[in-house]
Amino acid sequence: MRFAELAEAYTKVEATPKRLEMRSLLAELLGRVSGEELGELLYLSQGLLAPEYEGIELGMADSLARRAVAIATHVPEREVALDVKASGDLGTTAEALLRRPRLPEEGPGPTVSEVYRTLRRIAEASGEGSQELKVNLLVGLLGRVAPVEARYLVRFVLGRLRLGVREMTILDALAARFSDGSKEARARIEAAFNVSSDLARVAEVLSASGVAGLDEIRLTVGRPVRPMLAERSPDLADVLERMEGRAALEYKYDGLRVQAHVPANGPARLFSRRLEDLSGQFPELVEALPRALARRPAIVEGECVSVDPDTDEIRPFQEVSRRRGRKYDLARMQEEVPVSLFLFDLLLDADGPLLDRALPERRTRLEALVRPDPQVRLATQRLVGDVASAQAFFDESIAAGCEGVMAKSLSNESLYRAGARGDWWIKYKREYTTGLADSIDGAVVGAFLGRGRRAGTYGALLMAVYDPGQDRFESFCKVGSGFDDAGLKALPERLRSYEVDHVPPEVSTGLVPDRWMRPGLVLEVRGAELSLSPIHRAAFGRIRPGAGLALRFPRFTGRYREDKGATEATTSKELEEMFATQVKRPTRARETAENP
Ligand code: AMP
Repeated sequence: MRFAELAEAYTKVEATPKRLEMRSLLAELLGRVSGEELGELLYLSQGLLAPEYEGIELGMADSLARRAVAIATHVPEREVALDVKASGDLGTTAEALLRRPRLPEEGPGPTVSEVYRTLRRIAEASGEGSQELKVNLLVGLLGRVAPVEARYLVRFVLGRLRLGVREMTILDALAARFSDGSKEARARIEAAFNVSSDLARVAEVLSASGVAGLDEIRLTVGRPVRPMLAERSPDLADVLERMEGRAALEYKYDGLRVQAHVPANGPARLFSRRLEDLSGQFPELVEALPRALARRPAIVEGECVSVDPDTDEIRPFQEVSRRRGRKYDLARMQEEVPVSLFLFDLLLDADGPLLDRALPERRTRLEALVRPDPQVRLATQRLVGDVASAQAFFDESIAAGCEGVMAKSLSNESLYRAGARGDWWIKYKREYTTGLADSIDGAVVGAFLGRGRRAGTYGALLMAVYDPGQDRFESFCKVGSGFDDAGLKALPERLRSYEVDHVPPEVSTGLVPDRWMRPGLVLEVRGAELSLSPIHRAAFGRIRPGAGLALRFPRFTGRYREDKGATEATTSKELEEMFATQVKRPTRARETAENP
């Protein structure tokens, strides 16, 4: 097929706002090509050169494309730039400046395949002289095409084709063109896409061997699967009801979803929820994964969160997001924001794909496969059959720094449903994140020994508020952040005189620190919010039976309240009031960023 035909179809696609019409235009186009050209046409129409997960970018800067247009049209670059100012688009400018009839001796213009191959060469050119090469290749193409073709070529190389051709529309067009049009056929085509994440490959198989041929598209290491998604629920009773009374609950970690492809030999490849390649951003996971899995190949899925190396506590989402998209300064970032991957699913193991196995079997196999280490661990899971246990697990999850729970169905139907959302996974999070305006003055009642960089000093301190009614110190958090190096080093000495070898009778906590401290030293801490926790004892049972108040993501402000004695610490009553009045604010911003 000539690229001119494709460009003509693009003008029509661009002109229609109707999905149905777009679908018939595409289906009609698909009927005119075959073999490799079919795939190339689909890539080009989506503004791509390969499946999205390959991450191939054209890498043509505006200035280079402008220079190519100037050379190809024999118009000074300055004038090209002026025209772009008016038109707002270099593609439109190229079309206008090229407006001249095609000369017979110029031949019939390039084919779709020729254009595709040249664009790939432009994308792949790198290193010394590559900029010149990119410009020359584009000039070569522009010299052979009609004005309307130039419009789309230029937009393509700038990464701004934006025809609005969505994956779903292409799937519809493929079904219209290559199947009997039945619902089942459409579903099989979509399933093949969900497993391969590659529309071109689906199209090529369809054109060669029809819907029946799609069985050959199987899960493969190195090709990401479209991730399974979750429904949501406003309360735990509803969750359990929808799961027939029993479910596997897991901590819902608040980080980045990672699908890790670990081949039999060689490094792992990591893909994001949107199937972008994340391998370069998390080299420590690429390296740790093959070690942490007893058998390979494997495809595992988990959530990557930042973990405090000294206290092993999960850090807020904002921390891990600092690693996202980062290409430079990786070594420093690895040190500043160390991460752990909490695995929750197994999609393929050495015995083959597991997408059609029920969740309990996938989890059992995952547990047998993983040799947990600090970087690769298992997501915490518990089987529950009543609301009270579900609530207790939820509280634990929040106290551990997670954002809620993910309930997973235990039924035979709980297959890994690539790209699908249903009642097999239901998320339940707190509806609000909350802001805590006030700081809290806490009494130190215990200390945890440091590890790694903090070996020889303390990694975290156990903090308590005071209940004057009962003359009791009730724990509300473990704080390890916010100390500077000198302050840290001085901690054991500073705390020495408070140290005792048993839990002081006036202290109440669900934790057992390495060293107990008689309440005496008061520190000012701040945190993101107060939540209910089964392990902390502040205002225990006063808000909910079996739960106390905990401060999430606590941080030492740097102020030792030496002006205060332990009994002048914040009281549990004050904490209770802070809990009742803390500012509630919907979490929408993050939701939309993650799930556009
Ligand atoms: P949301 O982003 O709120 O729609 O919730 C779904 C996301 O939760 C998934 O895409 C994962 O990134 C994340 N997640 C965290 N923990 C789990 C878990 N245990 N199982 C499944 N997904 C999880």
